[in-house]
Amino acid sequence: MNEKRAGMMAVMFNYSIPRIALKKIGLGSDFFLVKYSDAWPVPRIVHPKQVVMRTRLGGICASDLHQLTVSLSLYASIMASPVNPVPMGHEAVGTIEEVGAEVTRLRPGDRVVYNPIGRCSCYGFDPCPSCRNGNYQHCFCLLGIGDGTEREQEYGGRCKFGGFGGGAFSEYLLGLEQQFHLVPEHVPDEVAVLAEPFTIALHAVSRHMPKETDTVLVVGAGIIGLLTIKALRALGSQCRILAIARYPVQAAMARKLGATEVITERASRKLYDRIARATGGSLFTPLFSKPVLYGNRGPDIIFDCVGSEASVDDDLRLSRSNGKVVILGLDFNITKQVDWSVAIWKEIDVTGTLFSGREVFENRKIDAFDLALELMSRDGESFRGLVSHTFPVDRFRDAIRCIRSKEKNSAIKVALDFRRG
Ligand SMILES: [Zn+2]
Ligand SMILES: [Zn+2]
Repeated sequence: MNEKRAGMMAVMFNYSIPRIALKKIGLGSDFFLVKYSDAWPVPRIVHPKQVVMRTRLGGICASDLHQLTVSLSLYASIMASPVNPVPMGHEAVGTIEEVGAEVTRLRPGDRVVYNPIGRCSCYGFDPCPSCRNGNYQHCFCLLGIGDGTEREQEYGGRCKFGGFGGGAFSEYLLGLEQQFHLVPEHVPDEVAVLAEPFTIALHAVSRHMPKETDTVLVVGAGIIGLLTIKALRALGSQCRILAIARYPVQAAMARKLGATEVITERASRKLYDRIARATGGSLFTPLFSKPVLYGNRGPDIIFDCVGSEASVDDDLRLSRSNGKVVILGLDFNITKQVDWSVAIWKEIDVTGTLFSGREVFENRKIDAFDLALELMSRDGESFRGLVSHTFPVDRFRDAIRCIRSKEKNSAIKVALDFRRG
């Protein structure tokens, strides 16, 4: 690394319990929990399995915005980073800058994407029960817990390492070798930066693969909804896909990525009528509440890529009886407006999916990141245009405002661009 570069531009989450509490009750500006520096110390390798990546693009995720407004479930706090302020951003493509002494697979100059989940094998720990099952997304390392051996001390000891990784909004990012995946040469940065969100969609779909005769409803056509449509097609599903999109740019992209029908009705009654008509379902209206679809005709599987109280309540009402609702979105926590009893009345399987792990594709077990990159390499063209806007990192506030006015800006995925200058 260029030794002259001691400082870097970085956007960090700057938290303390009182500040989180203040934000939680609605005090503090939009960027109250953000710290920006143009001279933050460049991370240094302290362990031989570590590498430093120079960021090229860092994608901004809805969960980053939820983090700033403290609207994620407080469950997430158990996997908070022990580092504070902590570099933000978990969707990154970059170039390897420096490698530790035990790194064998990567060398400076390699273009890679970053997996924010540092699992047992990344640290050299014996696998925890989740890792043994390929559920890296529930690895104990996310909570700073290793295998109980002295190896934990190499990382500073229990609860001194781990956390859901970050650094995509910084010029340099420090991680462990196994957290980085080589990007095929012909996959451009604007496609590769979508690898992490694509793993989310691949994980959800591969674990809840529809039957060919199923009608699937994808709720929300933001980046996760769009990539869920893409994941269904890329994993080979011929199912019928109904997609609910809010904005014209989302509707066009949903069609391009393989939705059979795009539904743009916003008003609840019209939306319900449209889905009932499209699936041959029957709507009934219980006393004092919104309609419900009743009986075994209707969407067979709903992938909810919004995950708000309103969308989850709609899912339960719109699923066919004995259907399945898979929630990917994280825009709710303790609910006040969801009638969960509808899941009982209609015997709906409600399930959530989070991050990604080891998936199964074409009868192979494969890490979700390798799968994402393999599919992007086969068909990179269809991902083009999903990164709708890029901003230099010192304009991260404008980047976040751009996402907050998605409709006006026709924004899909907004990324910070470190390649300029
Ligand atoms: Zn994300
Ligand atoms: Zn583990």
